[in-house]
Amino acid sequence: MVLTMKKYNIAVVGATGMVGRKFLQVLEERRLPVENYYLFSSKRSAGTEIEFMGKKHVVEELTEDSFTNRGIDIALFSAGGSTSEKFAPIAAANGVLVIDNSSAWRMDPEVPLVVPEVNPEDIKKVKKGIIANPNCSTIQAMVALRPLQKKYGIERIVYTTFQAVSGAGLAGWNDLENGLKGEAPKKFPHPIAGNALPHIDSFLDNGYTKEEMKMVNETHKILGDDSIKVTATTVRVPVFNSHSESINIQLKNDYDLDEVRALLASSPGIILMDDPKNNVYPLASIADGHDEVYVGRLRRDDTVNYGLNMWCVSDNIRKGAATNAVQIAEAYIRDNG
Ligand code: NAP
Repeated sequence: MVLTMKKYNIAVVGATGMVGRKFLQVLEERRLPVENYYLFSSKRSAGTEIEFMGKKHVVEELTEDSFTNRGIDIALFSAGGSTSEKFAPIAAANGVLVIDNSSAWRMDPEVPLVVPEVNPEDIKKVKKGIIANPNCSTIQAMVALRPLQKKYGIERIVYTTFQAVSGAGLAGWNDLENGLKGEAPKKFPHPIAGNALPHIDSFLDNGYTKEEMKMVNETHKILGDDSIKVTATTVRVPVFNSHSESINIQLKNDYDLDEVRALLASSPGIILMDDPKNNVYPLASIADGHDEVYVGRLRRDDTVNYGLNMWCVSDNIRKGAATNAVQIAEAYIRDNG
């Protein structure tokens, strides 16, 4: 008897964008068992030809009929919140599993929010046909923090992020590229070349930005513990790609620093780079193009009980978006044969 593995039809929504193009690259690298690919964008880029898997694919305009009778099994969405809000339920109603990169569905209690190294069990809890991919700055922190939570428990987290312009899509990238030539910004409210902007996404009534509150709320949901005290300051910096984060953690139990280093070095998805005497620590330029989360600068924070400081860097377009979503698709395919 010959056993044939099921092949899947996969759609990429937002295929012409910063994350969408990375989806295509990651899908090409990881060789999922795929029969057909369908690429979608808005009307603006419809008709664009994209060379992918050795074949030319024509990008289609996303419409309400895009998922009707096409046999699409999985759709990777990265086309903004309003597109996901409208089209993810339409896709799901057509039997498609949506893996959504926008913030639209992340805090819905019926939508799993998944980092495969951290809470893969939540993939099985899909109820509405939608799984959400967390915010890029949250994903890398979760990979670094989960092993500490499991071993020592976490009391409090203080995030300070240094986020690359690629996190603001192609328009963000162009603002830095053009800003370096002296042009005025189009995407950001101030020039990003030469500045660190303490402003990512819009401001809320509590004085925080949406990006900051995403880190707070998503951390609670993914780590499954609302009692962890979390605060964040998110900053856009003139770096093209890969987010850096200072993470100050108060653990619930005492720890040994070498034991923490060994724990992180042996945890899934983490590369430990912690040899400051030889100038070895994670950098955006090192993480760029890779799927792992890099951690280093580990040191005690003696201003609180069991305090720990770390520096954490990851490619926000790969692990922070495309790779994480494709890993979810892989796990789903494994679970469903
Ligand atoms: P981007 O470079 O601006 O690309 C946006 C994509 O969405 C383009 O393909 C665009 O198509 C498409 N699109 C826009 N409106 C659409 C519509 N009405 N119908 C269908 N397609 C539409 O943005 P990005 O950085 O790739 O981000 C995309 C999404 O991923 C956002 O929700 C973002 O929050 C999320 N995300 C981004 C990052 C990151 O680090 N960049 C990380 C995690 C999550 P056209 O070419 O036709 O305009």
